Amino acid sequence: MSSLLKTKLPRVGTTIFTAMSALAQTHGALNLSQGFPDFSPPLRLAEALGEHALRGHNQYAPMAGLPRLRETIARQLLLHRDVVVDPDTEVTVVPGATESIFCAITAVVRPGDEVIVLDPVYDSYEPAIELAGGRAVHVPLLTGSFGIDWELVSKAITPRTRLFMLNSPHNPCGSIVSNADLDVLASLAEQHGFLVCSDEVYEHLVYDGHKHCSVLAHPVLRSRSFAHFSFGKTLSVTGWKTGYCVAPPELTAELRKIHQYVTFVAVTPVQHALADFLDAEPEYPATLAADYQRRRDLFLSKLAGSRFSWKPTQGSYFQLLDYGQISDDSDTVLSERWTREVRVASVPVSVFYESPPKQSILRFCFAKSDEVLIEAAERLCAI
Ligand code: PMP
Ligand code: GLN
Repeated sequence: MSSLLKTKLPRVGTTIFTAMSALAQTHGALNLSQGFPDFSPPLRLAEALGEHALRGHNQYAPMAGLPRLRETIARQLLLHRDVVVDPDTEVTVVPGATESIFCAITAVVRPGDEVIVLDPVYDSYEPAIELAGGRAVHVPLLTGSFGIDWELVSKAITPRTRLFMLNSPHNPCGSIVSNADLDVLASLAEQHGFLVCSDEVYEHLVYDGHKHCSVLAHPVLRSRSFAHFSFGKTLSVTGWKTGYCVAPPELTAELRKIHQYVTFVAVTPVQHALADFLDAEPEYPATLAADYQRRRDLFLSKLAGSRFSWKPTQGSYFQLLDYGQISDDSDTVLSERWTREVRVASVPVSVFYESPPKQSILRFCFAKSDEVLIEAAERLCAI
């Protein structure tokens, strides 16, 4: 039977996050798979959203985002990163970082271009690269530390390399880049003339005294990068799907050409509420790391009696657990089995690789209430 349409993404199915959340629901499992908090956002933020909807802020915002929110974002970047950006020409408010990453890739990549991605790689990048006619060139992160192997990266660069996908703090591994990493990237980018797409949605979730290193604070990368951020992570509102992209004017202009036809704008009352909240509590994002580090440490302390092993995650709200002492089965088999039988859902890490190495690692989201973390850890200890 002939089909109506030949797929453009033959290797793509339903995302692992959707699949595991659905499985968790079917089996009544504690859902530590898909990354989202199970607790409420700040009350005054939620109240502000209702107020703005009632006050009539319900029609299209300007395409690049409400000027007042872009100004708030510029103030936030100055406060938390010591970075100066022009809210008019360098900041674009978008309906989620997923959208701005898609727009940035679409703006840059032409048929035949190569884009370097680091495996394990966040799932939305490669489909966007392929739809643009490009090819993702997969470079594995170092085993164990999940740091960047710059030797391997250098070898993967060709005259066709157009873009480098950076993600720090990293999803799913939780590793973070240092300024020394950014220096190497900067010299490679300058030498070979490629651009950088930097996914920094977990920027405020960095632990144990480490600091987030943003491309925006790097003198060279600042001028050749798109940096993507998400209010979903910072303010515990993943369902509000609002983020922003910062890039130099020339790159921002190209991003906006695409953003205006992909979604045109982000949601208006949400933008007002975000601006109200961050203007009233500008320091709030800086309080997140301590709170999430406490959740991470609670989860890990309760796992002390288990047969899992781990290194405490450096950033993001994901903790990797190695089950090598428990089973030889694959992570995809085990994440499903333990969702059904232990009723704790996780995400297998192998699905984020082009060629998965031999390892036995599952990803657990600890953006959860204490009761859920304690109960999940008890169930995992019983395996
Ligand atoms: N990048 C990474 C690494 C993520 O984990 C996520 C979201 N979970 C996103 C991008 C997308 O963020 P948003 O929900 O704002 O689209
Ligand atoms: N980024 C989130 C995670 O890693 C999920 C977002 C999504 O479901 N697309 O779990």
